[in-house]
Amino acid sequence: MARIVMKFGGTSLADIRCIRNVLCHVKREVDLGHEVAIVVSAMAGTTNQLVSWTQDIADLYNFREYDVVVSSGEQVTAGLLALMLQAEGMNARSWMGWQIPIVTDSVYGCARIKSIDPSKLLKGFQHGQVAVIAGFQGMSFDGNITTLGRGGSDTSAVAIAAVIKASRCDIYTDVDGVYTTDPRIESKARRLSRVAFEEMLEMASLGAKVLQVRSVELAMVHKVRIFVRSSFDMGSASARAEGDFVGTLICDEEEIVEQQFVSGIAFAKDEAQISLRRLADKPGVAAAVFASLAEENINVDMIVQNISEHGATTDMTFTVSSSDLERAVNILERSCHKVICDDLQFESGLAKVSVIGIGMRNHAGVAATAFKALSEKGINIRAITTSEIKISILIDNAYTELAVRILHSVYHLDKE
Ligand code: ADP
Ligand code: ASP
Ligand code: MG
Repeated sequence: MARIVMKFGGTSLADIRCIRNVLCHVKREVDLGHEVAIVVSAMAGTTNQLVSWTQDIADLYNFREYDVVVSSGEQVTAGLLALMLQAEGMNARSWMGWQIPIVTDSVYGCARIKSIDPSKLLKGFQHGQVAVIAGFQGMSFDGNITTLGRGGSDTSAVAIAAVIKASRCDIYTDVDGVYTTDPRIESKARRLSRVAFEEMLEMASLGAKVLQVRSVELAMVHKVRIFVRSSFDMGSASARAEGDFVGTLICDEEEIVEQQFVSGIAFAKDEAQISLRRLADKPGVAAAVFASLAEENINVDMIVQNISEHGATTDMTFTVSSSDLERAVNILERSCHKVICDDLQFESGLAKVSVIGIGMRNHAGVAATAFKALSEKGINIRAITTSEIKISILIDNAYTELAVRILHSVYHLDKE
């Protein structure tokens, strides 16, 4: 007997027929004698609809009522699944974030989990009860409903797995694992059987939305092994009996015998670039620029600064998401640009394409291969940033798909 978390995403819960399919997965695990906590997303499309309704009324992001509205999709699916399990004769009940409680900070729309009390769930297990938990939602210290950011049910699932000390956290989605790149963009993408936490963290934060970034952070810290698999794969009879399914295990680097030097290509569209020209080259300037943006919760991504020629002025370029561009420019114009730089230029409609692999640490020439491949297709590189295990390249949005396919092929990711 094991204690497991099963998380089902929106497409896996899209309608009553899909929820019946989820029921089969749950029944299989319960029949194997496992203690089961289920975390559900809203039905596919529901959260988008809820967000757009709030925006139709007013542009009120980061506001209490936004979270009251957008958290409601998960309440529906948790209730429906619990009803369906009960109709099958199972002992099951739904849990909202505030009932457990899952306590978060008060950053509406993007709250962070601070603590989870597992005692009620554990007591339920003692009575053979299956817990059906509404993902994505929590409760702030002062008793308000909060949500964990888009895709946040993954984070709910990993956090629950950590506090109840589950031996597995299975993420059921509409693909049968983590692929070398988004299979919607490159049909030759291959499923990876294992991905290291660190690698998955880069992939998720660089655009592979198959898992929310924070869920991977939490899994890495608490050593929760995540198994990403398809909810539409019911497996053969023998696979079912042995719990042997197709999917991707996200685990410690030590568990990966053969490390690829490149494991995947990720991309993020809708990036925008801001350049500060002839910026004063003296201590405190970068701090002033980025503190003013941080105060307004604007996430800055790539940062590129030149070494100045005579120690007088330099150029600095950084990226923000397109949706933050107008706000970022306003802040910079208001707070600092007149004082510390000569000119402020900006542009949206850009994309960031990234090459990721833990094996990159020990291989030379990975970056050169990417630059050559892009240049042969006439794709201009605007900015480059690297870490030990990734190279990110800023290009025009229009070339995103082409760049992803070229990079995928140049590192032979389409081959076994
Ligand atoms: P869910 O609703 O189950 O949470 P998501 O839409 O959040 O599902 O995540 C699954 C989707 O992530 C897939 O349909 C796929 O298009 C996309 N995706 C992006 N990058 C990858 C990748 N590297 N591997 C697998 N899927 C990816
Ligand atoms: N329903 C939420 C969203 O669409 C959370 C999730 O699906 O993980 O973002
Ligand atoms: Mg998701």
